[in-house]
Amino acid sequence: MQCYFDVAAEHLKIAPELRDALLMPHREIQVQVTIERDDGHLANFVGFRVQHDNYRGPMKGGLRYHPEVDLDETRALASLMTWKTAVVDLPYGGAKGGIGVDPRELSSRELERLTRAFVDQIHDIVGPDTDIPAPDMGTDHRVMAWFRNQWEKYHGFNPAVITGKPVEEYGAKGREEATGRGVGALTVKLTNRLGRLADKTRVAIQGFGNVGSHAAKFLYESKFPIIAVSDVTGTYYNPDGLNIPEMLRHTLNHPARSLSGYEDCERLDVNDLLSLGDIDVLIPAALGGVIHDENVDKISASIIVEAANGPIHPGADEKLHQRGVIILPDILANAGGVTVSYFEWVQNRQHYRWTLDRVRQELDRTMNDAFENVWQTAQQNEVSLRTAAYIIGITRVRRAAELAGFAS
Ligand code: NAD
Repeated sequence: MQCYFDVAAEHLKIAPELRDALLMPHREIQVQVTIERDDGHLANFVGFRVQHDNYRGPMKGGLRYHPEVDLDETRALASLMTWKTAVVDLPYGGAKGGIGVDPRELSSRELERLTRAFVDQIHDIVGPDTDIPAPDMGTDHRVMAWFRNQWEKYHGFNPAVITGKPVEEYGAKGREEATGRGVGALTVKLTNRLGRLADKTRVAIQGFGNVGSHAAKFLYESKFPIIAVSDVTGTYYNPDGLNIPEMLRHTLNHPARSLSGYEDCERLDVNDLLSLGDIDVLIPAALGGVIHDENVDKISASIIVEAANGPIHPGADEKLHQRGVIILPDILANAGGVTVSYFEWVQNRQHYRWTLDRVRQELDRTMNDAFENVWQTAQQNEVSLRTAAYIIGITRVRRAAELAGFAS
């Protein structure tokens, strides 16, 4: 993230001490999270919350439950949220949090105890006007509901403390699909802009969880042939196009929500998806850092849409850029989730519910405006879409800092 920030900061001729101020997190905390397992034994985990920046508003960012969560990763992702909320012009700063845990190894009751124990440790630094968490990898609407319930035990009723809640528990209609829908909508927009026809643009999607599956659905309905998708269990491939509605039904009926056992296509190794030779658009929608120096030469796609956060290492990004590959950066491509989180927060604060149509309309408008702004900035400055997005994000945060009297 810092490499990308530096390229844009250089372009904007920002002085080194202001760069440091913009990059340094406001607060980082690491907490012990101890729970009793169902068998009576104790289990210890480490939880993190990094609050990067609040010049533009309360800080906003997901909670990730994954074995690789640590302070470094959380810090980078918190900063990413600052630039992301600024690119789509939401009145928020950036934050991120998580616990180093494999949620698949915990029962539902254990996951609930873990979430409540985490809230016990951090409840006094989050809140509707300070820092508002949301779902990310390994967390979902249930985790958000437990989080809210535990936080309210300390601070009283206020569902705006967290977003991504179940719809019947003050959640927003359309929040679950939002990130994938935004990824799909911007993929359509970008390919149109590049003069490509939907039915002649072959797509591969890495990851078939919340983001990947909703992006797949949107693009399938927009007539794009999706020839490969992968999840932890492997790559599922059909050169004539996969039947996405059937695959979605399969995951809904699968206890682990995975594609394991889906037969109606070819099965390849999980890592084969990135190096498939016959794709035009690659959508990494799983983990960070999956495209790196060792595999970048095998990427054949001419367009990459970063649905995951940070899927491309900076060295690989530079090589792809030199080869003319168009990359829609994460801070724009996957901003649909935080945008509808913002709509959820607004609804909670007004005690008013929007229809799904209204949520989708406002989401499409917000993503469309942000895309146009990034596209124009890239053209005017002759830079990549990523650098353009950072230029917009950094300029807005810097301006807010100036207005607050902290920078000049
Ligand atoms: P998820 O947990 O719902 O799904 C992750 C998917 O990736 C699963 O299908 C999993 O099987 C698959 N996966 C894991 N490792 C893999 C591998 N090595 N190869 C192929 N597939 C693999 O997570 P999600 O919410 O869909 O998030 C995915 C990415 O999108 C993350 O980088 C997250 O930070 C980012 N993101 C999510 C949101 C959101 O609203 N959920 C918003 C912005 C960004």
